[in-house]
Amino acid sequence: MQTFRWSVILLIALAVQGSVAQTVVEKIDTAAIARIKSEGLNRSQVMALISTMTDVHGPRLTGSPEYKRAADWAKKTMESWGLSNVHFEKSAPVARGWTLKRFAIHMTEPTTSPLIGFPKAWSPGTKGAVKSNVVYFDAKTESDLEKYKGKLKGAFVLLNEERELLAHFSPEGERLSDSELLRLANADLPTGQQRRGMFGDTAAIARFMQAARFTSKKMEFIINEGAAASLEIASKGDGGNIFVAGASVPQVGDTPFQQRINAYDANAPKIIPQVVMAPEHYNRLVRMVKQNVNVRLEMDLGVAFTKADSCYNVIAEIPGTDLKDEIVMVGAHFDSWHGGTGATDNATGSAVCMEAMRIIKALDLKPRRTIRIGLWTGEEQGLHGSRTHVAKHYAEREAAGMALFTGGGTVKTKPGHEKFSVYFNNDNGTGKVRGIYMQGNEAARPIFRAWLAPFAELGATTVTASNTSGTDHIAFDAVGLPGFQFIQDPIEYSPRTHHSIMDVYDRVQPDDVKQAATIMAAFAYNAAMRDGIFPRKPLASPRPAAPPAGR
Ligand SMILES: [Zn+2]
Repeated sequence: MQTFRWSVILLIALAVQGSVAQTVVEKIDTAAIARIKSEGLNRSQVMALISTMTDVHGPRLTGSPEYKRAADWAKKTMESWGLSNVHFEKSAPVARGWTLKRFAIHMTEPTTSPLIGFPKAWSPGTKGAVKSNVVYFDAKTESDLEKYKGKLKGAFVLLNEERELLAHFSPEGERLSDSELLRLANADLPTGQQRRGMFGDTAAIARFMQAARFTSKKMEFIINEGAAASLEIASKGDGGNIFVAGASVPQVGDTPFQQRINAYDANAPKIIPQVVMAPEHYNRLVRMVKQNVNVRLEMDLGVAFTKADSCYNVIAEIPGTDLKDEIVMVGAHFDSWHGGTGATDNATGSAVCMEAMRIIKALDLKPRRTIRIGLWTGEEQGLHGSRTHVAKHYAEREAAGMALFTGGGTVKTKPGHEKFSVYFNNDNGTGKVRGIYMQGNEAARPIFRAWLAPFAELGATTVTASNTSGTDHIAFDAVGLPGFQFIQDPIEYSPRTHHSIMDVYDRVQPDDVKQAATIMAAFAYNAAMRDGIFPRKPLASPRPAAPPAGR
């Protein structure tokens, strides 16, 4: 009784500070939250989970044998914790699996030197070690292409311009400052353009599409000219770190977004080996070729294409009690790119969610609603796992082209739609939680304020109206279900680890992920215990087709 009365007093104070009109009473079981904090901060297993997921199972590229091994481990681990309904849920983002077997690239003339490079995922390999000359493909317009006809056969082709490397004067990691958090806290509800993010800026899209079309044309040209391999400069980073994703396939004309051909498609056309180089090494090659130095390389790339038999989400539950038909979810994508071991993208998020489930289970807490975890596949290929899950259980959304990402299209709800309460995602690197994005859902503000209050001392204080995109909560938000992502400290994510070969365990900050897992457990538990289902923002028009009767 004492505990309960204490929480209510706090909330009224907040309501008065906010707007007099709001009398929000959010009951919180502070005793349970205190136990969750103690288990999550003092008996955490999150780092052990991350080490197994990364050091032992390595990168978890969608559809790969490595993903399969890691998913088997995650399933067994959650079964060993006594979670229920632990299963794989099929999702078919890719048709071909890919595994890197070996890779080496050396300069052999004018001097010998090992070079730092990394093959793109789903790149074909070479037949053993290939030795050849280097050509700098300095084509800036379509008419420039003709100059290279007959000059690229069997050559290593430098596809891009060199990149100027600037000295590092700013830190790669930071803690969000009070003023940055205040700016977020004071942000207005996102408007149409803001809600659509980059996809609302048609000029930016036009420039992006034009550059993509010419890059595609260049790739098509060198493939047709029989080049041995394409070498590209890493688009950002330096110091031996390389940011690398999937191999590019030349697109035919103005292929609409979701009809793009991907290197992992069953009918993907024949492409050549594609490697991304460390800028320092790439720039040196360009400078030498520009001085008419005869540069020769030797490259050996061994890969294996496999049947993509591991395209599935890993799902598990803690059954509810009196409201067990209603669902609260935590989730993160389990797949990663192949360069590092997918540590901060997104073993941290996956482990934060697994650990949150472990904490609630270990404390034998009895949630009213069922708490479900989703470890998604295919996020890096377009949120495939989470979108498949949402379409299977809650609602299907018909949308074409950019509407896929801008919230257009029609929504057909399923019975599970009205039984779904809320989804929490973690996918912003290793940084600790500083607050949460309301995704434009104003009704969430007082609830999140109350739920964050016990974690203010751990730095989690901020509720912002603004939204964030580009990851799995969008699959829920797009069909009118509350889906949220946390505000996290940006720790080396964009400048160092996000999709890089140095996305490894050593970049994970233990205290940060412990804090994030503890808060994830608390939010899931609070959502599972509150009287009402989580409030929803009005679904962006057009209206759901046939909502079931009742709520
Ligand atoms: Zn991610």
